[in-house]
Amino acid sequence: MSEPTVLDRLVAMSNTLGRPELDYAMLGEGNTSAREDDASFWVKASGTEMRTIAAAGFVRVAFDRVLALMDQPNLSDADVKAGLTAAKADPAAPGHPSVETLLHALCLQLPGISFVGHTHATAVNMLTCSDGFEQAYAGRLFPDEIVLCGPAPVLVPYTDPGVPLAKEVWARIQRHVEQHGENPRVILMQNHGIVALGRSAQQVLDVTAMAVKTARVLLGTFAAGGPRFMSEHDVARIHTRPDEHFRRLQLGLEAKG
Ligand SMILES: [Zn+2]
Repeated sequence: MSEPTVLDRLVAMSNTLGRPELDYAMLGEGNTSAREDDASFWVKASGTEMRTIAAAGFVRVAFDRVLALMDQPNLSDADVKAGLTAAKADPAAPGHPSVETLLHALCLQLPGISFVGHTHATAVNMLTCSDGFEQAYAGRLFPDEIVLCGPAPVLVPYTDPGVPLAKEVWARIQRHVEQHGENPRVILMQNHGIVALGRSAQQVLDVTAMAVKTARVLLGTFAAGGPRFMSEHDVARIHTRPDEHFRRLQLGLEAKG
């Protein structure tokens, strides 16, 4: 048996994220991507379903052509659509890159990030669609959340999809990197959904699962007086403990060496 390709791994990851019992995405919701090489990546085509998507449901696009759209002012929806179609590595290949392709290109530009999974997980959206969204995510609740999802998520206020959303997310990712000295693993978009970033397809699945569990725990805390967050000191301690560092290595969350 030959090693699975990047595209094989992306298909399997997407099918898992689309499993109905997980309640992360239904019908055409959500999209996924993976870096093929320094110049290009695979992204889900519009109109495909995560649950059933196969290799033919992904389009390969060039990083530089997608990212160039970020620098052009006042693009209409039609301009963005045309620009994304023109970014296809093989113009004759079927399928149109999803409008969220810009977001994927930016996440895959981060060092060490090779797979990205965006879903509209119901448990997470119960919070992103609530008045108390920011307060609910103002702290960390338990050690495994920190191990899998990092010291803090990136929170993004509701923004028009396409170029404006991509710009807002990028600004907030940069702020996170300045504050924490590392990539975020979870981006939470108000009234929209979650993006999980990973070195591997498995990491995207693990981070998504833990973010969904965290959302469920958070929702439960509001039935018993609201969340009691861990102290910043305790969060930092878990995040930097040698044994937790070892666990992250085992889980493939960090590069070895
Ligand atoms: Zn979405």
